[in-house]
Amino acid sequence: MRDSYDRSIDYLRVSVTDLCNLRCTYCMPEHGVEKADHSRIISVDKIEEIVKICADLGTRKVRLTGGEPLVRRGIIEICHRISAIPGIEELCITTNGILLKKYAHDLKLAGVDRLNVSLDTLDEEKYKKLTRCACSEHPIKQIFEGIEAAKKEGFGTIKINTVLLGGVNDDEIRSLVELTRDEDFQVRFIELMPIGEAKSWDKATFIPNSTVLEKVPELVPCGESGVAHLYNIPGYKGMVGLISPLSNHFCSTCNRLRLTADGKLKACLHSNKETSVIDLEGDALREAIINEIKNKPRNYDLSVSNPSSSDRNMNQIGG
Ligand code: SAM
Ligand code: SF4
Repeated sequence: MRDSYDRSIDYLRVSVTDLCNLRCTYCMPEHGVEKADHSRIISVDKIEEIVKICADLGTRKVRLTGGEPLVRRGIIEICHRISAIPGIEELCITTNGILLKKYAHDLKLAGVDRLNVSLDTLDEEKYKKLTRCACSEHPIKQIFEGIEAAKKEGFGTIKINTVLLGGVNDDEIRSLVELTRDEDFQVRFIELMPIGEAKSWDKATFIPNSTVLEKVPELVPCGESGVAHLYNIPGYKGMVGLISPLSNHFCSTCNRLRLTADGKLKACLHSNKETSVIDLEGDALREAIINEIKNKPRNYDLSVSNPSSSDRNMNQIGG
């Protein structure tokens, strides 16, 4: 379906839970999420019903995110049901990778096509601080074991999402790019967005993606993939993607609709407008989805001085 600015809205991102086994400082409050809210988390049946309607309206790609999707009870069932819906051509998951080793096999069987694994640093101690992780002694090792398991299951190019954080991981840009030397990874640098926890962060933390090209001048442009501008170093197996929501707005080609973990449709990540669909069914649900697409805002002029209008943290919306 096309919105009123003639953009084809064919990509649905579903936050299946707002819970997470990490508490990344830019994403979640230190104290985590109140359990009491969970009677209002969207059910597996409702997710399926919404995806079916969206598929009928032209959605071709679904991404499951969170919170951490792999901590959602029934995640494999959710994947099975979505991948079976006629019209859905691509099912992807964005995960922090901590539980990937355990789930790689079942995700593949459940019809997941692609994986994005979030990893902001290659330094175990920095990782623990950044994610407030109490999960294991060597979380990064655990994540790479998950990636290995996923490769063995036949997942193709695995995308590694790295949020660029000035003064935190900009000294690791080259090491992260080096991951693409021998592996078919796409390392994607994402500019930190002033939303949720990060709204109040020091301006110096928000650095543009041009920093990547300054630090690694051998990177050569080699196309585009969705919102990412692609580069590679000649002779390297993998690629680097730059996703620049601040320095290079992509609203004019935005094809996304979002469903939050508490059952709200969001046509724009940064707008505060949401429509609750958790209690709707049948024609009323379909009508609400159509209206949300029709009323998708033209753009949002995100910048450090004009932060997101959304009152939500990213773990609720899903990024
Ligand atoms: N837990 C999963 C993970 O971390 O991959 C999925 C949910 S997480 C909210 C999805 C993505 O959003 C992650 O890659 C994360 O780094 C990114 N993210 C969270 N807050 C962000 C922010 N303020 N700006 C840019 N990216 C952000
Ligand atoms: Fe959890 Fe992902 Fe947010 Fe980190 S970015 S706290 S892993 S939801």
